[in-house]
Amino acid sequence: MRVLVTGGAGYIGSHTCKALHRAGLDPVVLDNLSTGHRWAVKWGTLLHGDLRDAQWVRRVLKETRVDGVIHFAASANVGESMADARKYFENNVAGTLNLLGAMLEAGVRSIVFSSSCAVYGIPEQVPIPVEHPRRPISPYGETKLMGEKMLRWFGEVHGLSWVALRYFNAAGADPDGELGESHDPETHLIPLVMEAALGKRGPVRIFGTDYPTPDGTAIRDYIHVADLAEAHLRALRHLWDGKESVALNLGTGRGHSVLDVIRAVEAVAGRPVPQVPADRRAGDPPELVADGAGTRALLQWELRWDLNGIVETAWRWHKDRAPHL
Ligand code: UDP
Repeated sequence: MRVLVTGGAGYIGSHTCKALHRAGLDPVVLDNLSTGHRWAVKWGTLLHGDLRDAQWVRRVLKETRVDGVIHFAASANVGESMADARKYFENNVAGTLNLLGAMLEAGVRSIVFSSSCAVYGIPEQVPIPVEHPRRPISPYGETKLMGEKMLRWFGEVHGLSWVALRYFNAAGADPDGELGESHDPETHLIPLVMEAALGKRGPVRIFGTDYPTPDGTAIRDYIHVADLAEAHLRALRHLWDGKESVALNLGTGRGHSVLDVIRAVEAVAGRPVPQVPADRRAGDPPELVADGAGTRALLQWELRWDLNGIVETAWRWHKDRAPHL
């Protein structure tokens, strides 16, 4: 079976291509390489192009004859979306609409969509159940919610089958050391802590030390990227088995504070991480943790990695990744 992976040169997309390949499936990567990396496409071919180019997307879908789509390609930086909303609506909404239209024309019926816990906005309840009201507080979150709405109506009206996966905090690196996280500029906590530990940048700024949490720093649900990749594979099989379209949380149900993460890195790295307290980052809720039990049951999917596994695999990647970066 052949699977089109949009954004397959990116962080989660590349790990998912590896999982597809290991399961005997054949990934075809569609990526504009705006944030992804050519070196990360190690399984399957790369089609270099942009989802905003409707004609090209239509042609790719007709010619590749895939059995399903996993759609990662999107702009995914909340802060950037607050400064450039237009970019987010163009890439994430117009791009997704082009893809869905091209799928219909090519007769491709199954799609797994990268959504985000950003669709919930400030949660009223933690852990966050999947039925929690969706009230995004950033253009990024809004575009992910719009993607989910398009899926729902393309399902109702055109018979598309879909799974929307609402990620919490993707983290960690390929356990074999073949892939890892690499953004430019980097804004995510774990790579920043690693780079600070390695002396590649200054101290980690701890965004907010007066949150209403046990240690005063914000709590997030960090999930290993290899566990995420496996969930995508299961979601695709769920659709191929003819089961229902559904939105699901992808988290562990366990929260860790910024200080927990720093301590875990210090333990693995065997050295102190330089750090300084800083103001809260605009739009950051105090606590985001998934209620993900329903997802595990529905997809028959088990988590294999905890925070220590995340930090260990990420540390190996950051320490040894010089050949690529
Ligand atoms: N964070 C931090 N310092 C940084 C980057 C992030 O304290 O330099 C905090 C951030 O406020 C949040 C958590 O770390 O509470 C995770 O942030 P990240 O950007 O990795 O993911 P997000 O939760 O925003 O998707």
